[in-house]
Amino acid sequence: MIRIATAGFQHESNTFSFVPASLDKFMRSGFLTGDAIRQEYATSQATLAGFFAAADEDPDVELVPLFFTRLTPMGAITEEAITTIMDRAIAAIRDNGPWDAVLLPQHGAAVSVPFPDADGEYVRRVREVVGPDVPIGLALDMHANVSRQMVENADITTVYQTTPHIDAYDQALLLARLVVRMVRGEIKPCSALEMPPLSVNILNHGTSDYPMAELLRIAQEQRCRPGVLTLSLVEGYSYADVAETGMSFIAVTDNDPELAAEVARTLARAAWNMRAALNTGGTPIDVALTRAAAAPAGPMVLFDVGDNVGGGSPGDSTLILHAARRLGISGLVQAVGDGEAVQECERVGVGGRVSLAVGGKTDDRHGTPFPIAGTVTALSDGRYEATGPTHGGFRFYDDGPSAAVTTDDGHILVLITRPGGTASLQQFRSLGIEPTAAKILIAKGVQSPRPAVEPIAREMIWVATPGVTTADIATFAYRHRRVPLYPLELDAQY
Ligand SMILES: [Zn+2]
Repeated sequence: MIRIATAGFQHESNTFSFVPASLDKFMRSGFLTGDAIRQEYATSQATLAGFFAAADEDPDVELVPLFFTRLTPMGAITEEAITTIMDRAIAAIRDNGPWDAVLLPQHGAAVSVPFPDADGEYVRRVREVVGPDVPIGLALDMHANVSRQMVENADITTVYQTTPHIDAYDQALLLARLVVRMVRGEIKPCSALEMPPLSVNILNHGTSDYPMAELLRIAQEQRCRPGVLTLSLVEGYSYADVAETGMSFIAVTDNDPELAAEVARTLARAAWNMRAALNTGGTPIDVALTRAAAAPAGPMVLFDVGDNVGGGSPGDSTLILHAARRLGISGLVQAVGDGEAVQECERVGVGGRVSLAVGGKTDDRHGTPFPIAGTVTALSDGRYEATGPTHGGFRFYDDGPSAAVTTDDGHILVLITRPGGTASLQQFRSLGIEPTAAKILIAKGVQSPRPAVEPIAREMIWVATPGVTTADIATFAYRHRRVPLYPLELDAQY
């Protein structure tokens, strides 16, 4: 009989969250032991179900569920929680052995206060307990931040290869079958881990869509090479500030370290060559502005993705304006929602001087009011008619009472009363502003501005501004990530 232990924990820790993953939360979520694990998971499609299935299909294999806990993603795991969880799992493995193999149902992006690589520390301890000769199989989520400690202490690592994750069961079954073959001496797995300095924008994680689908096609080609036991593309988890944050590639071959290294490198190189496509979810504000300012001519059109009015945002974000001022970049043309500011412009009239703080007044997620001094150049009722094609085919627009102001530091702002996206260039032209003359035009939206701005844009850049929808990892204050890491360092080499 082949006796296999399984014990572990799953957590995806967002270290930028202030909500700690505490012991009481894990316990409320459930500390499962023995048969309770089978009852909870055997009929699911989760990793543990794949382990149970492998045992059920093979009369010589007995899977012994020892300990399992998981908690929904939140902040880092507290020291009390990780110590308790690891001690429980390790003690169960130690006290119920000896084992022919161990299967670990992990996630791979668990972070705790003493152990930034909590999963790796766990695998290391399991290795310490079972010794060098007992096979260890490690199952991970596609959002794992894979460490050498994990891969080197495990014999075989498998990772979900779908986002959304629908193959946890299949990958776990594959892992368990490979581990059983290893126990029987049929294979001698060896692993290679490749970690290019590459992060993938969360908006590019879908495995059914280009570019991830194309990368998985290349992975499948490599996986079919003779001697390859399994090959995993790992998307990584950017919201954990740890050294391993980012993409990784794990190849496992049958006793062929050179092949493992070559296969992992081949896939990593393919991903690296697609790095721009893997990060089209948004360009960091400073990068976008710097590139726009450096262009020989305009209009460079920057989409304010975080202030996508069509997606329900307030249309008064000032984040790009503030960044431009901080970077000493002038010449932005953009609309800002601010009815109070329009009233002040109406009071002084065309040609009058205003000193205002505009926008950023709806909530605290779209920047603070942007102080300006400038001259009112036009006033309107905010109604205009689109003359060209528009998103959704609309023709008549009403931004409410509007004013155009040229600021003393060289920006042209269209102040509007109602939230208004940049669906038509008439938003500017109705106030005497010619958008084709703009060096940098800020469009509020993601898709809706395209019909209007694409024909005139020298280049379009989708800016990963904070706000309702977009997560721009450049807005996080990382302290532990590796440097360089594309796209935070666009000149990173691999
Ligand atoms: Zn995931």
